Amino acid sequence: PYTIEQVKALVREYPDFPSKGILFRDIFPIFREPEAVECLVEHFVDRIKALGQRVDVVVGLDARGFLFGPLIAIKLGVAFAPVRKRGKLPGEVVSVTYLKEYGPDVFEMQADALEAGHNVVIIDDLLATGGSCKAAEELVCQLKGHVVLNAFVISLVGLEGDKQLKAPVYALIEC
Ligand code: 5GP
Repeated sequence: PYTIEQVKALVREYPDFPSKGILFRDIFPIFREPEAVECLVEHFVDRIKALGQRVDVVVGLDARGFLFGPLIAIKLGVAFAPVRKRGKLPGEVVSVTYLKEYGPDVFEMQADALEAGHNVVIIDDLLATGGSCKAAEELVCQLKGHVVLNAFVISLVGLEGDKQLKAPVYALIEC
C-alpha cells in the first residue's frame, strides 16, 4: 500500500512542456499504480468528509478532473458531473466565458446536473491562475448550487489562484 507522501513523489516535472519556459506537472504516473490511486482517492474523501458538510455532487473539470472526480464521487456515494469545453454536452446547458492564456474559452455544464441548494465539491488536477475553477464556480452558482470546496492534486501557490475563488481551496501538493 502507498502512503500519501509516496503518491506525491509520483508526480513528474517536465521542463519546457508544452512550450518553452513552462514547467509541466504530470499526474499520469499515479495512474500506473492502482494502489497509489486508491490512496489518493481515500485522501481526498477523508478531506471532504472532514468538512462536516453534506456533499451532493462532485464536479470535475475538463479533462483531468474527470480522472479523479468519479472515483471520489463513488466513494462518497454521491453524483459526478462534468464541466466541459463548449459544444460537448447535449441538452440544456449553462455557459460561462473565461480568459485563458491565449484568449477566451467557454465552459459548460448540463442544466440538470445539479439541483438548487446542492452542495458541490469541484475537483481538478492542478490550480494555476484559477481561471478555470473560477468559471466552474460560476456555473455551479448559475445552477444555484453551493461550492463547499475546490480540491486539487497540485496548486501553484505563487500564482495566487485561490484568490480568484469564492470557496475554500485544498491542494495535496503546494509548489
Ligand atoms: P488555471 O485555469 O488555474 O490557470 O489552469 C488550470 C488548468 O490548466 C487545469 O485544468 C490544469 O489541468 C491545466 N494545467 C496548467 N498547467 C498544468 C501543469 O503543469 N500540469 C497539469 N497537469 N495541468 C496543468
